[in-house]
Amino acid sequence: MLQLEGIEKTYRMGKSSLRVLKGIDLTIEKGEMVSIMGPSGSGKSTLLNVLGILDAYDGGEYRLDGTLMKGLSERRAAHYRNQFLGFVFQSFHLVPFKNAMENVALPLYYQKVGRRQRNRTAMEHLERVGLADWANHRPSEMSGGQQQRVAIARSLITQPKVILADEPTGALDTQTSREVMDILKGVHEGGTTVVIVTHEHDISEMTQRVIHLRDGLIESSERTTHGHGPASPPTGGYEGPVSAESVAAGD
Ligand code: ADP
Ligand code: MG
Repeated sequence: MLQLEGIEKTYRMGKSSLRVLKGIDLTIEKGEMVSIMGPSGSGKSTLLNVLGILDAYDGGEYRLDGTLMKGLSERRAAHYRNQFLGFVFQSFHLVPFKNAMENVALPLYYQKVGRRQRNRTAMEHLERVGLADWANHRPSEMSGGQQQRVAIARSLITQPKVILADEPTGALDTQTSREVMDILKGVHEGGTTVVIVTHEHDISEMTQRVIHLRDGLIESSERTTHGHGPASPPTGGYEGPVSAESVAAGD
């Protein structure tokens, strides 16, 4: 699903430059749930931004579902992002003056889906993360965990094949982190590829494979006790809302 070969990335600021990714070789299979760990500054977010076609790279090759992502115009990049990817961030990135339903519906607004359809689909996704009762509340009225669940519902509404999450539990307490991870596991069990950047061991232990990044290089890639490969069937793609029971049933 995601294939990196010799990926290099250097940030240039005036006369100085900082080589952040120094030749990353990494393949993430369809339907896998992996975590990326590493010290602060090791390039985790940069790597995730490359995977998310949010940032260009300078060397190597990145293939998304077999297609080379290189030298894309912003328009093409946006096309591939919309078609394949969903994003979850540490700080949720919700629109403060919109309620939960409107936040979840936002990607469909950009796809020019009509309001009724948009809101109906958004409600289904809010139900999926257990927040149907909070549809009319704004982010400021919700806890951090609830806000992150809204953000996950928003990331799922376009039925992405891959979810990229940068420290999704970084701002949450342990119990809330677990709830958010349970939802992401449910998404993975639905066949979606999930990539999570984290520096918490108990979070990475909930994924199938832990990739350790150090100083711009992959130091190791280890299967966890959940590491028996992609969930089956590994056909990829989130197929729409799954019932709350099937989320809760995920181990
Ligand atoms: P991590 O997510 O592992 O903490 P990052 O990928 O955010 O690491 O950053 C890796 C290094 O690149 C850090 O030293 C950071 O300061 C630097 N960096 C990140 N983004 C930029 C940028 N846009 N411009 C310049 N330097 C950057
Ligand atoms: Mg980071």
